[in-house]
Amino acid sequence: MKSTDKTKNTFAITTPLYYVNDLPHIGSAYTTMAADSLARFERLRGKSVLLITGTDEHGQKIERTAESLGRSPQAHCDLVVPGFEALWEQLDIQYDRFIRTTARRHEYIVKEFFQRVWNSGDIYLNQQQGWYCVSCEEFKEERELLPGNLCSIHRSKKVEWRDEENYFFRLSRYQEQLLALYAENPDFIAPESRRNEVLSFVNSGVQDFSISRVNLEWGLPVPVDPSHTIYVWFDALLGYVTALLDPDSDPTLENALSKWWPVDLHLIGKDILRFHAVYWPAMLMSAGLPVPGGVFAHGFLTKDGKKMGKSEGNTLNPVELVEKYGADAVRYYFLKEIEFGQDGDFSETRFINTLNAELANDLGNLLNRTLNMARKYCGGCVPNVSGEKISGDNLLKGMSLNLGDRVADFYEELAFSKACEAVLALVRAGNKFIDVQAPWSLYKQGQVETVEQVLYSVLESVRLASYLLSPIIPNISSAIYQQLGFSIDFNDRVAVDHLTNFATHSVWGALPANQTLGEAQPVFKRLELLETVPS
Ligand SMILES: [Zn+2]
Repeated sequence: MKSTDKTKNTFAITTPLYYVNDLPHIGSAYTTMAADSLARFERLRGKSVLLITGTDEHGQKIERTAESLGRSPQAHCDLVVPGFEALWEQLDIQYDRFIRTTARRHEYIVKEFFQRVWNSGDIYLNQQQGWYCVSCEEFKEERELLPGNLCSIHRSKKVEWRDEENYFFRLSRYQEQLLALYAENPDFIAPESRRNEVLSFVNSGVQDFSISRVNLEWGLPVPVDPSHTIYVWFDALLGYVTALLDPDSDPTLENALSKWWPVDLHLIGKDILRFHAVYWPAMLMSAGLPVPGGVFAHGFLTKDGKKMGKSEGNTLNPVELVEKYGADAVRYYFLKEIEFGQDGDFSETRFINTLNAELANDLGNLLNRTLNMARKYCGGCVPNVSGEKISGDNLLKGMSLNLGDRVADFYEELAFSKACEAVLALVRAGNKFIDVQAPWSLYKQGQVETVEQVLYSVLESVRLASYLLSPIIPNISSAIYQQLGFSIDFNDRVAVDHLTNFATHSVWGALPANQTLGEAQPVFKRLELLETVPS
């Protein structure tokens, strides 16, 4: 899968709009960190980027949760939403739009969209009988249930029998068009396993689904029949469109769709794949609108090899994790240690071992020892060597030559782990290189020129590595750049736009000769396993 169209200079990506039933969990943080890293990478490449996130606030589950807490649904949402905003700030998420589906302007967009689908003749009233899981906000087929009428996802939750009049969306009419979309655009759903899952689902025949509820107040009214409330998913998916409205423009579909639609990528967890890869494109087709560029569904997370969940007593609080270890550590672990798209596991021991080995030792120590040598042997400046003049036989230069392009390909494929591995290989080679070359003995032998070449090669390798990792570990990369004498902060979007040109910085030789180096300080302090993160 390629997440981007090389011919375009814009890139729009969405996270799911998170359900505010509860505070953000690690799964929401995971998707958001990945989306932010990809968005940062595209900004680094000079694209104009729009990263959309937000919250999905309607539906029965929220109505009931609020009621059980003695709050109004709106008051409940207003209490929970700041928890998401705060976590994104802690994790250095640079989003451009935060859409709440309770925003007034969203209602206009939903109404107009509903009307278009209505005008297409794709909405009709019918009797809905079936098993409903309130936690999923979804009707279940009998064969999907566990014994005792339990939802197969929410294993402790009983589904409820519903027999009511609902408005239905004529999904069945779009089966052929959906299959044509998947066939013409093989990258529409990724990874491959998810694509196959959707293909087999749609191939086996799709049924119309109900898009309204009765006896539910917390939601938007059906425009043609206010005694019904619009199904929360129909409403939530349109949040991606409302989010595109400029803050001061009128809430019309035309305005919302004028600039960024269709977005390039919806990044989601695999639990909500069907909504994004089947229902949503069909709804858009019905409304006569273009479908998004693609959908990428990542896997589930476990902790210590076991399913996470409150009922399992096995949770991981993202706020506590980032407070304890910092944003870069959390971002790096989840994006490097788990192959994006596959299921993955968190264990605190593995977390600490990975970060100590790769960020503190491999990367941090390499910079630190080389800076100290540069201070000793080169007067605290980048050696007077140009990257260009270094021989092509130089191991590090050789490894660096096409590294930027390779890493760019990995980012485009959302293969964050492979991107990190490719960069780490250079860093590890840098450590070996300096051990083998032993500049301290070369210096004693008076081979100053060779010392300078060795130190330049290593410093330049660290620079290149930190640049290519900056979408994932922006703070560490900024610290490295600053110690190398640049005044660049990768969290500063203006600076990233103007000072870190990809064509220059993603290749060998961007470190200017004679640049005054900063003070050598550990860029990542070794972590100790003191106590486990409280759940
Ligand atoms: Zn469920």
